[in-house]
Amino acid sequence: MSEDFSSCLRDIPDFPSPGIIFKDISPLLANPQKFTEVIDAMAKLIENQEIDYLLGIDSRGFIFATALAQKLNLGMVMARKPGKLPGKVVSQSYDLEYGSATLEIQEDAFNAGDRVLVIDDVLATGGTARAASDLVEKMGAKTAGYAFFVELSFLNGKQLLESGPVHSLVKF
Ligand code: AMP
Repeated sequence: MSEDFSSCLRDIPDFPSPGIIFKDISPLLANPQKFTEVIDAMAKLIENQEIDYLLGIDSRGFIFATALAQKLNLGMVMARKPGKLPGKVVSQSYDLEYGSATLEIQEDAFNAGDRVLVIDDVLATGGTARAASDLVEKMGAKTAGYAFFVELSFLNGKQLLESGPVHSLVKF
């Protein structure tokens, strides 16, 4: 199954910086039948979990989170890069290989105890998904787990994601 879906990805070497092989999801998005199959398969991975909201990570995570939220009849919340969300926000900064980054969520997005599943296109080192999960916990909600289209297993990103099960459709 994963071999089939991996054909919807395109490797772009040395993007955005030298040595990185970027997993481009554009071929998947250009193929409505495959995209539907991917969303159906991701939905199967998480449908038995107790979830109140899906949290999509800016920006490709939004694509998967929105489609999954619609299919599973769940609310979708955006974790955005700084300065993009209106109103009061809660922020979480995290370390990158060079420098740092920040994610923000609107402060009224969750109620205490809500179960939130974090969604992104690619799990690499895990820092981004971990920051999203830390934000959820900071807001008094619970991380129910994580789901990704692609997992770069050789980077061991899962190690940082302790708060719930980590699901992915295509593993490298
Ligand atoms: P990380 O925090 O290292 O797990 O990086 C995850 C974030 O960076 C996700 O939002 C991905 O979309 C993006 N990302 C990291 N590495 C890649 C890659 N090789 N191909 C595509 N996206 C990537």
